[in-house]
Amino acid sequence: MDTSELVEQAHRAVKRYGVTDGDSFRLKDHDPADTGALSGKDKPRAQEMLDEGVDVLSKMQDMLYAQNRWSILLIFQAMDAAGKDGVIKHVMSGVNPQGCEVHSFKAPTHQELDHDFLWRCSCALPSRGKIGIFNRSYYEEVLVVRVHEGILRAQQLPPSLVTGDIWDQRLKDIRAYERYLARNGTVVRKFFLNVSRDEQRRRFLERIENPSKNWKFNAGDVDERSHWDDYMQAYEAAICATATPEAPWFIVPADSKWFARLVVAGVVIDALASLDLAYPTLDPVQQAKLASARQRLLSER
Ligand code: ATP
Ligand code: MG
Repeated sequence: MDTSELVEQAHRAVKRYGVTDGDSFRLKDHDPADTGALSGKDKPRAQEMLDEGVDVLSKMQDMLYAQNRWSILLIFQAMDAAGKDGVIKHVMSGVNPQGCEVHSFKAPTHQELDHDFLWRCSCALPSRGKIGIFNRSYYEEVLVVRVHEGILRAQQLPPSLVTGDIWDQRLKDIRAYERYLARNGTVVRKFFLNVSRDEQRRRFLERIENPSKNWKFNAGDVDERSHWDDYMQAYEAAICATATPEAPWFIVPADSKWFARLVVAGVVIDALASLDLAYPTLDPVQQAKLASARQRLLSER
C-alpha cells in the first residue's frame, strides 16, 4: 500500500472512532469487540498494515523533529488490562527514541500533591518536535479520584474549595487547558481503550494462570473492577465534557488487541498528516555557508 492510501485509511479510522463533540456521547453506543471491516482471520493482514503504518509514522516523526514547531501529546486512559502498554510498545516501535517520551502517572507523591492537579503533567509535556505519551494522565483526577472520594479528601485542598461542583470545575479546567495547549502548537489526541468487563476478567485470569504473566497481576485491580459501573460513568462524563475538535477523544475498541493497535496507529498518522510537516529549508545565506563548507572539505583532499 502506498503512503497516501495508508493515510486515507487512517483518516477513515479517525472518523469512525473519534469524538469531537461530547454532547450526545454515550459509552454504551461503542462496542469493545468491534473490529471494523476486519475479522480474526485478517490478523496477519492487520499486522502487515500495522508494520506499514509504523514505517510511515517513523518518517513523519523524523520531519516533526527536524521542523521543531509542533509537538504531539498522546493520552492513554483505560481500565486495567485494556492493553495500554502493548499499544504504546507496538505503535511507537519504529520511532526514534530521541523524539519520543513516555510518562506513566501513578498515585501522586507528597510533592506532587503539594501542587495543583495539572502540575505534574505540565512538567512532562513534550517540547516542540517531540511526541509525548501519557500512560494515564490528569484525567485520573476525574476518574479514580471521583470513584474514590477518600482520595480527594487526602489532597490537601483548602476545604472551602471542595464543593459539589469540583468535578465539573476540573473538567472545565481540563478542557480549557487542552485548548491552551492546542493554541501553543501541541496537538492533543486522547485514547480511551474500551475493553469489556468480560474481556478484562479473561485477561486477569490469564495473568494468574500463566506464570510468565504473573508479574502483571495486581490483586488490587480486582477490587477496582468491582467499581466498574462507577468508572464507566466517570469516563462517560469526562469524555462528554472534554471531547473537542482541537483535543478529540478516540473510543478504541480494545477487546482485540491487534485491532486496537491498528486504530491508534491510524489516529497518530492522521494527526501527523494534518500538519504542515516539512524538512526545514535553508535561506540563501545559509546555502552559501553550506557551499563554502563543502568547498573546504573537498579541498582537504
Ligand atoms: P499496569 O497495571 O499495566 O502496570 P497501570 O497504569 O495500571 O499499568 P499501576 O501502577 O498498576 O499502573 O497503577 C497506577 C495507579 O495509579 C492506577 O490505579 C491509577 O488509578 C492510580 N493513579 C494515577 N493517577 C492518580 C491520581 N492522580 N490519584 C490517585 N491515583 C492515581
Ligand atoms: Mg494497573
